[in-house]
Amino acid sequence: MIENKSLVLHPLDCNEQPDLKVLTDALQNLKFIESPLDGTPDSYLVGDDFLQLIIFLGCSPSVELAPSEEGKAFCHIRLIRPEDTPQFIISKHTNNPRCPSCRKEIINTKQVLEQWNKDKSIQWSCPDCDFSGETKDLNWRHSAGTASFFIEVNNIFPNEAVPSDELMSVLQEATNSEWRYFYFHD
Ligand SMILES: [Zn+2]
Repeated sequence: MIENKSLVLHPLDCNEQPDLKVLTDALQNLKFIESPLDGTPDSYLVGDDFLQLIIFLGCSPSVELAPSEEGKAFCHIRLIRPEDTPQFIISKHTNNPRCPSCRKEIINTKQVLEQWNKDKSIQWSCPDCDFSGETKDLNWRHSAGTASFFIEVNNIFPNEAVPSDELMSVLQEATNSEWRYFYFHD
């Protein structure tokens, strides 16, 4: 569903399904996205202010932002609305989750996925402190996410770039939720 090497943004409220018109208008006004790519309403070229809104952490990132004649991979943005919601997304890069309170590793990711497939509201308890919460409440260290809607910024390696505060607050204003992000890398 999600392409390899992606930075993925999603609402913290795992049931939130944004109004697409409101969201895409807000992201076009912000110059995060530009015109639809390939005539699909789900994929967009990056807008003029993309590099202010997604902050690359390396000293001289070489980022392809538009299709080239050589057909190199380039950053573009895709809106993903899964039919079966919410979705718990992991990749090979996903860390075992930690307790958000004391940071102890609670359980391994494979067990979480197995149990999630049986019961999406399953509760996890920390053996070391009094934390207990759902899968989405665990500390995945930006390597997994649970949501009913995702914005994929593809062609970005884990920890290569982070979304700016401005982008995250515009996403929040255009929807009914705060937003989070993670990296998908298989
Ligand atoms: Zn704990």
